[in-house]
Amino acid sequence: MGNTQRESFETMLSPIRAGRRTLRNRIIMGSMHTRLENEPDSLAKQIAFYAERARGEAAILVTGGFSPNAEGVFDQEGPRMDDPDKALHLRPICEAVQAEGSLICAQLLHAGRYAKIEGCVAPSPIRALINRFIPREMTDADIRRTIEDFAKAAANAQAAGFDGVEIMGSEGYLINEFTVTHTNKREDDWGGSAENRHRFAVETVRAVRERCGPDFLVIYRISAADLVEGGAPADEIAALARKIEAAGADILNTGIGWHEARVPTIAYPVPRGAWRQAAANVKAAVSIPVVASNRINTPAMAEDILASGGADMISMARPFLADPHFVKKVREGRADEINTCIACNQACLDFIFSDRPVSCLVNPRAGRETEFRDTPTDSPKKVAVVGGGAAGMATAAEAARLGHVVTLFEAHDRLGGQLNLARAAPGKDEFDETLRYYSGQMNRHGVTLHLGQRAGLDDLTGFDHVVIATGVKPRIPDLPGVDHPSVATYAEILSGERVAGDSVVVMGAGGIGHDVAEFLVTGSAEVHDTNAFCETWGVDPTFAAPGGLAGDPLAPKPSRRKVIMLQRKTSKPGAGLGVSTGWILRNALRKHGVEAMGGVVYGRIDDAGLHILIDGKPKVIAADTIVLCTGQEPERALAEALSARGVTVTMIGGAKEAAELDALRAIDEGVRLAQGL
Ligand code: NAP
Ligand code: SF4
Repeated sequence: MGNTQRESFETMLSPIRAGRRTLRNRIIMGSMHTRLENEPDSLAKQIAFYAERARGEAAILVTGGFSPNAEGVFDQEGPRMDDPDKALHLRPICEAVQAEGSLICAQLLHAGRYAKIEGCVAPSPIRALINRFIPREMTDADIRRTIEDFAKAAANAQAAGFDGVEIMGSEGYLINEFTVTHTNKREDDWGGSAENRHRFAVETVRAVRERCGPDFLVIYRISAADLVEGGAPADEIAALARKIEAAGADILNTGIGWHEARVPTIAYPVPRGAWRQAAANVKAAVSIPVVASNRINTPAMAEDILASGGADMISMARPFLADPHFVKKVREGRADEINTCIACNQACLDFIFSDRPVSCLVNPRAGRETEFRDTPTDSPKKVAVVGGGAAGMATAAEAARLGHVVTLFEAHDRLGGQLNLARAAPGKDEFDETLRYYSGQMNRHGVTLHLGQRAGLDDLTGFDHVVIATGVKPRIPDLPGVDHPSVATYAEILSGERVAGDSVVVMGAGGIGHDVAEFLVTGSAEVHDTNAFCETWGVDPTFAAPGGLAGDPLAPKPSRRKVIMLQRKTSKPGAGLGVSTGWILRNALRKHGVEAMGGVVYGRIDDAGLHILIDGKPKVIAADTIVLCTGQEPERALAEALSARGVTVTMIGGAKEAAELDALRAIDEGVRLAQGL
């Protein structure tokens, strides 16, 4: 995984001074929008969410962003900190966190031109590509009032019991929009020279410090690499960092990349620790603690960055969804029990983007702490689980954790099922961590494993519950010549059983079609080695260049292999991919020269290749290999045989419903089934 292993986590676990506070270790839970604030019972849910993570011993928890005023919200429902009475309602969250020994800071975030509202504001009236609303240019009076709004919001947070605030100065939000020429075209005191562009950030920090006094923690999140044209060069970032320190900040957290950047920053195709140099540049400029962030998901990587002097602290956000007890497990010598964030974004960012509260693919309890029980069962059952893929492993691990007596049968000699195929896609070998975690849990809680054993009817007698998690098999379309030697299934290609030739047709442009196409054109280094990643996406690995960019992130990088991906639908291929990762996959394939075609009618396959109709005209696509990524069918033979014998079974995962099966649904169904036993 391109990861540096360290035996000890001494630096990470050591205390550190920040302002007038001593922090119990070097780990911050970074800010995440949870959308829990709009849920029924929102306060109870937020208390449970944050208290669980404080019990997991992060030194500071930073909340999701609160706007300092009405113009700065993400959208109409976005949380605000401008009403002192409403702020006081947050006090129980602060108390719950502090009772567990952590500090809690409210993030103050003015969305600027990213606010999805009529009347959003920015330094200059330039619309963001990712927002349909055109911002109004702020007047001098607007700017001064907004600085005052930040100070008032910080005071409201202080009165509510927060230990401090994090002022959001990165990711392309308002403060960041002032600091760079990309969005700041002003000619008054707030634009032009770096001194003027930095003024809004510096005055905001100064105002917050003055209003809240010396004991209140002030964290400033600086953009350590904007990753957009017209972004700041390293020397300007260092100068801003020094001014922010002088204005009274206690800690400098770092942010990487604007939301409109065309470089992936946190998803699985980004190597672990890819941005550490950007944080190190900031650290070299100041003497207050500097925090490294983004794509740091293991204690080994965190320790390596800290011990090498690249940062004083580490901020992790999604890893605390995957495992709230990340730090506690490290402290107790149980780092191998951490449920690792695999950077898929599927249940965190993609949920948030579709107006759902945050959760986590590998940990369905995240954000739903009040719905899941933790206490062992008082009526243990004998449970058989057939199938050791994601659904089966999640069921078995959770049932055994709750005290049931569980036996798991897996026909292959290794656990994982479809995860063993998914892991072959570039960057998705993060799934190895999920396998490690769930197999470790099963082991720890005493699941009896029968690997390499296809469970027969007679093996499944004497159980109180039989759970069928036998998964899926590739769908073979009914086409003449589909048994031609050039045809392979996605499973044969991803497992390495068959090797594709130099010209390939991928039939099916769903999630698996895209993964297979990427597998065929992307070298492993691009997702595991920071320099190779930077070269692919036009990033300056020293981050000295303006915006940290050394070239066009979308510049072509053709692959030696020619790949064409087809679908029958006329919609845009890849339209159904996850919001926060689909654009990366589509751009990566385009860069590597993969051609995607919709509206295709499939004909026969023969020695000439795949015969299709496109726009009503016949065409033959010659190919060494034709890969079937045409969906899946449920594997239900055993379930049907058991039902015929009158045995009651519960089907989950792909065996229950193959359409749209993914690890998210599989793990969620498994854990919920076990909870309900
Ligand atoms: P999918 O996304 O439903 O795609 C299946 C593809 O097969 C479609 O392109 C479909 O397109 C085609 N197809 C279906 N029936 C066919 C037939 N009889 N003949 C020819 N083509 C046929 O399913 P998947 O790719 O198998 O992925 C399974 C699940 O895993 C999905 O839920 C997917 O979202 C998820 N997944 C997601 C990702 C990701 O987001 N990166 C990666 C892997 C898997 P046409 O009918 O238009 O031809
Ligand atoms: Fe990490 Fe995926 Fe969970 Fe998000 S959903 S926290 S990216 S594992």
